[in-house]
Amino acid sequence: MSELAGYNAVITGGGRGIGAAAAVALANAGAKVSLASRNESQVVEIAAELRNQGHEAFAFRCDVTEPHQVRELALSAREAMGRIDILVNNAGTATSNPITRITHAEWQHIMAVNATGTFLCTQAVWDGMADRRWGRIVNVASVAGLSGGKYISAYTSAKHAVVGFTRAMAEEAVGSGITVNAVCPGYVDTPLTDETIARIVHHTGKSWQEALSSVLEQAGQPRLIRAAEVAKAIADFCHVGAHAPNGELLVLDGTESE
Ligand code: NDP
Repeated sequence: MSELAGYNAVITGGGRGIGAAAAVALANAGAKVSLASRNESQVVEIAAELRNQGHEAFAFRCDVTEPHQVRELALSAREAMGRIDILVNNAGTATSNPITRITHAEWQHIMAVNATGTFLCTQAVWDGMADRRWGRIVNVASVAGLSGGKYISAYTSAKHAVVGFTRAMAEEAVGSGITVNAVCPGYVDTPLTDETIARIVHHTGKSWQEALSSVLEQAGQPRLIRAAEVAKAIADFCHVGAHAPNGELLVLDGTESE
């Protein structure tokens, strides 16, 4: 399968979890990939694994909340790959706290990584895609971007912003050759979900399995979603053909067959 041969992708937060799985899926589909995150060692490791498998892969350090680092990432990725055709806005982070315990700094950070980072990275690649009249932008939102949840008001607000931004940019993209879509997964089997479970274990004294069962039950999910399932949905949104979807929000809630 090499539908994306000749296309170049940037994946933020590509060092682990959904981002790393998306890098693998896009590389397997033939794309050159550039991975970015704050922790350089993780993206360097995933890029090296991909190169060992015969793919072209690059790694860059970038904090998506810093405008100058995002501009630098776009320049470096263009230098390495020639141009940027695909952007996966995957970098994200979450906390859980009741409203009275959320600090201003925590609120700002959650908004900055999930929402502002998505805006900055999109802005950094937009002109190049528009000039070539082809581009694919996939935002990793969440089911939390579509409905409310207890103790995750900052994350929920940030992911609603990502969903709103996706809808607005899809309108702005009409006729440009660019498409902007989002995936909205429930709980995925990644280090981020491990952190959530660990917080519940810490605060409630429940066992890991009890804590996991309670979040899945609350979310109405029969199982954790695999990162590779989300990655496949991301790669599907990068479809090259003429009738590529635009402005779609794809919910993955674990009820799909694996
Ligand atoms: P992980 O915590 O496993 O990975 C997050 C990635 O984002 C890491 O590579 C991390 O690297 C990077 N990252 C975090 N902050 C920044 C930053 N400021 N700048 C650049 N990179 C950053 O999370 P997941 O793989 O689970 O999540 C990926 C995306 O999917 C997120 O947007 C998340 O909100 C979303 N999502 C996750 C779900 C889940 O259940 N896991 C469900 C629904 C959505 P580093 O720390 O080195 O910067």
